[in-house]
Amino acid sequence: MLSVLRKIVQEVSTAPDLASVLALIVSRIQRSMDTQVCSVFLLDEAQNRYVLMATQGLNAEAVGQVSLASTEGIVGMVAQRAEPINLEDASIHPAFHYLQITGEERFHAFLGVPIIHHRKVLGVLVVQQHEKRRFDESEEAFLVTLSAQLAGIIAHAGLSGSVAKFDDKSGASLQDRRFEGVSGSPGIAIGQVVVASLPADLDTVPDKAAKDIQREITHFNLALEAVRADIRSVASVLSQRLSSDERALFDVYLRMLDDNALAAEIIVKINAGNWAQGALREVISEHVREFSAMEDSYLRERATDIRDLGRRILSYLQEESESEPVDYPDKAILLADELTPAMLGMVPEDKLVGLVSVTGSGNSHAAILARSMGIPTIMGVVDIPYRRLEGREVVLDGYTGRVYVNPSDKLKYAFLQILNEVQAVTDELEGLRDLSAITPDGYRIPLWVNTGLAADVSRALERGAEGIGLYRTEIPFMIRDCFPSEQEQIESYRTQLEAFAPRPVTMRTLDIGGDKALPYFPINEENPFLGWRGIRVTLDHPEIFMVQVRAMLRASEGLDNLRIMLPMVTSVSEVEEAIRQIDRALAELWEEGFAVKRPPIGVMIEVPAAVYQVRRFARMVDFISVGSNDLTQYLLAVDRNNPRVANLYAPYHPAVLKALDFIVQETHKERKQVSICGEMAADPGGALLLMAMGYDVLSVNANNLPRIKFAVRGVSMFRARQLLTKVRVMDDAEEIHQLLRQALKSFGLSQLTRPSMPEDE
Ligand code: PEP
Ligand code: MG
Repeated sequence: MLSVLRKIVQEVSTAPDLASVLALIVSRIQRSMDTQVCSVFLLDEAQNRYVLMATQGLNAEAVGQVSLASTEGIVGMVAQRAEPINLEDASIHPAFHYLQITGEERFHAFLGVPIIHHRKVLGVLVVQQHEKRRFDESEEAFLVTLSAQLAGIIAHAGLSGSVAKFDDKSGASLQDRRFEGVSGSPGIAIGQVVVASLPADLDTVPDKAAKDIQREITHFNLALEAVRADIRSVASVLSQRLSSDERALFDVYLRMLDDNALAAEIIVKINAGNWAQGALREVISEHVREFSAMEDSYLRERATDIRDLGRRILSYLQEESESEPVDYPDKAILLADELTPAMLGMVPEDKLVGLVSVTGSGNSHAAILARSMGIPTIMGVVDIPYRRLEGREVVLDGYTGRVYVNPSDKLKYAFLQILNEVQAVTDELEGLRDLSAITPDGYRIPLWVNTGLAADVSRALERGAEGIGLYRTEIPFMIRDCFPSEQEQIESYRTQLEAFAPRPVTMRTLDIGGDKALPYFPINEENPFLGWRGIRVTLDHPEIFMVQVRAMLRASEGLDNLRIMLPMVTSVSEVEEAIRQIDRALAELWEEGFAVKRPPIGVMIEVPAAVYQVRRFARMVDFISVGSNDLTQYLLAVDRNNPRVANLYAPYHPAVLKALDFIVQETHKERKQVSICGEMAADPGGALLLMAMGYDVLSVNANNLPRIKFAVRGVSMFRARQLLTKVRVMDDAEEIHQLLRQALKSFGLSQLTRPSMPEDE
């Protein structure tokens, strides 16, 4: 049963559009359950009716014609109850509703199960049989399991749809198609899509209209010839060591690449107008789908070979196109399956106006960097058919996380108005640069910045930052192809230290793992956020840690404004070991004659275990800094990178606020400084709460610094404390969030709340 289930799900998941998804579902279920009928009804929300969308066994002409009101028939009952209904004879059930054109009166046994995605009933899956009998428990369990697995695929296919969802039959654009994600970086952007694909990843290759068909064919033929040559050379190198059967496999590959086989199909697609990479993806995925669905295990395995050949051809095609200059649109919106920090530099900064990622969430590192660059970004738009969007015009609403494809003039106009309002607020805040962040009742709140990208330093200085509270040293490591040497690191650290001297610069030791991968040091784990991350990696690799610490110390010579901070700490022993290594590096440098001072050392509180030991840590080090992004993720057990649980990732959850309160109190008992460098400090409402809790420093991205300064200057400590007192007794994160928004308005800071959007309810 399990293998049948897997096969159906796999086959269905690669179907190109909703109609094929549903057709495959009904035919495979009917066959594997050996029933006379299998049908799918889907909810048409506009009419609030369940429409017969596919059937195997009922009259095919009824598809799309027959529908039931949401309260009508047994189908309506299954949907309303959101549970299966299994009847020996449906025709005598009081709710039975006879639909003449389907010819269903001949069927008695009925089993209907709801199709539910994210708590929402999308439709009903039905199997029927002539005889009067109850479907047995294993059949019911099979259908329920299948429906649960197919729901996501149906929802995705329904939303992303086919190209016809963007263009009507005459080719005219259908306007304002909306896709939902989560906000990655606020702001509005209107521009043209540029799809970024990952190297050698066929699935992420977009469709693009070929500019010159003949050239695409030539590129393709060259790539094909290169792969054939590779295979021949591998075959000849290995020929002595392989059996004749194994050697024959290479012949199979070469035959697949024969001009009359895959290649011919790809050329047909290029001639039809797709560029070579898109044509390759289309043909390879069709064949992979067919082979994966085969009964015979030997043939099924061939799917892997085809995918591999496709990937090889793609690598050559990508190499070829990399050497060609790319003409980016003036307002480019970069769209990627998985937006990575390295991609942020792909489009020249003066042309990049927005970012969209199919995967990831609001606190993924790509989103954090986008915020510091001030580029409107939307993450986790899981249903967007990104491969079909190259060159399309889109509007990004980075406040609510919505993307509109083919925007109408009316919608664009509405968003342009908001864009102007936002610009007016930004201009107003510019004037704060040289003023201190001081509350009306005289409390000074030092505002520092988080940096990582090269441009962050000048941006931070322009906005009047008083120090760096977090320099994410791993970012420059991520956009290279090997570890930087000690000398290279010294140079980049010196730039930061010099630019800010005498103001403090807090450098965090390498924090890789989780969603931050180094291309040249891959960490493959099932559960990377609970795995080898941050200090765990660097303590296991003293050679990496020591080089980095030595570089930091040497870079600080004569400036003495360095602070070193340790990420992802869980235990006292980690802090002891790290301090030991820092002291060893210092001793070495003193011996080598460098006049470096011992910098203040700090621990980041990002893991629940660290919260409970914070006082102990505070005794061991000079300062504490809270990484509320990770602390929220680990306290709430919600992956910060997973769009499916993005609504549960709540920095204002009472548990997080209690932990934050506790950390300040415990650290202050040891009279040590406590700062916060998570994104929560960059939200005006969050900043007011943190200020009231007693945080000594707020470290925020340069882009948000003026907003936070404006909030601090606009609200007295007295009122912020009153607000905190109210929040402390509240139980619900969303209610707290609402209260903060209202409070900002009542403090006269409505400019700092998100503007209202054209589609706000
Ligand atoms: C944090 O976790 O809050 C933090 C500042 O570190 P990062 O976002 O880089 O993990
Ligand atoms: Mg962190």
